[in-house]
Amino acid sequence: MIICADPRAQYELHRAEIDAAIRSVLDGGRYIHGDSCLKFEKEFSAYIGVGHGVGVNNGTDAIRIALEGLGVGEGDEVITVSHTAVATVAAIEQTGATPVFVDIEPDYFTMDPRLLEKAITGKTKAIVPVHIYGQGADIEAIMKLAKKHDLFVVEDCAQAHGATLNGRRVGSFGDAACFSFYPTKNLGALGDGGMVVTSNAELAKKMRLIREYGWEERFISKLAGENSRLDELQAAVLLVKLRYLDQDNASRNKIAEHYQNDLRDLDIAFPKIRKNATHVHHLFVIETTKRDLLQKHLRENGIQAPVHYPMPIHLQPAYRGRVHSAGPLTVTEQKVRTILSLPLYPGLPEADLKATVEAVKSFFATSLVSEPR
Ligand SMILES: *Cc1c(COP(=O)(O)O)cnc(C)c1O
Repeated sequence: MIICADPRAQYELHRAEIDAAIRSVLDGGRYIHGDSCLKFEKEFSAYIGVGHGVGVNNGTDAIRIALEGLGVGEGDEVITVSHTAVATVAAIEQTGATPVFVDIEPDYFTMDPRLLEKAITGKTKAIVPVHIYGQGADIEAIMKLAKKHDLFVVEDCAQAHGATLNGRRVGSFGDAACFSFYPTKNLGALGDGGMVVTSNAELAKKMRLIREYGWEERFISKLAGENSRLDELQAAVLLVKLRYLDQDNASRNKIAEHYQNDLRDLDIAFPKIRKNATHVHHLFVIETTKRDLLQKHLRENGIQAPVHYPMPIHLQPAYRGRVHSAGPLTVTEQKVRTILSLPLYPGLPEADLKATVEAVKSFFATSLVSEPR
């Protein structure tokens, strides 16, 4: 089976260093919030280009804690997109706030800033744009509107570690930005992990309290907090992998380039890249009207090609009829029928890449012949 993402392959690429890092935590005897955690918070936030990093247990917690830190909660509305991982919406609801959906841009799959203004009400407190598939949303337009209406922006960067827009890394634009280190992400741990980064020192301090029982000093809760710490072992692993993030992203982009060159003449739409942007291809998402048939053909050839995601959040059983949108979500609902993710990860064997290309080609060769016009 050729799989779509393989965190094991990335572990193999850096095995000796990762093993040594884990060993050193084990020998050090400090298993929560030790040196690795502190160092990783510093190094990762510096990599993004902001002053503070607050490690948490996962990407969902990162979004929730960022919103809570900004005072978002019961009675507030938070504008986001329905074309995302469910985590984005779950985190907003966990704060007590109400998610409100706007549609996406057809070329980039990200929040359409032209629809934002109409979605803003007297209750709107924050906007959570999602930088999806490895590319930024139109964050500068979103920031402009947020400033005009005095709203917070929390960037969901779970799929875009290292991506840039106009020379700045995504995650450095908003009031806060949230990362997941789930194993298959561009920067992935060997388990769960997450971080909020921000240039606001006061917000960082508050989020540090929230993530650990509201403690300012040990055993004394200054506010009612919770437990969402970044694990020390994961932080040690992440410190190693952060050194290779740019290199890993370059390998992703190289595979993407291969697909684009080799599949150029087929009836497929490729990911479009914004002007002055760098894409980091968390996923390689193509579009075709023959999606279901192509997916079936690939499966029969031993190739896993999932859909990210098969159902918009507002149509899922848990949210249907309950979470509201600011207008029709036409593009969101259309896109789920045509998108397909081809295998892409650092360390994808050359032979698997070739086999995937050949399988896609053979599908279109036969489907052209057999399909009545
Ligand atoms: C993975 C992901 C998250 C959540 O991350 P977890 O670490 O799994 O909680 C949030 N948003 C998006 C867009 C994601 O892809």
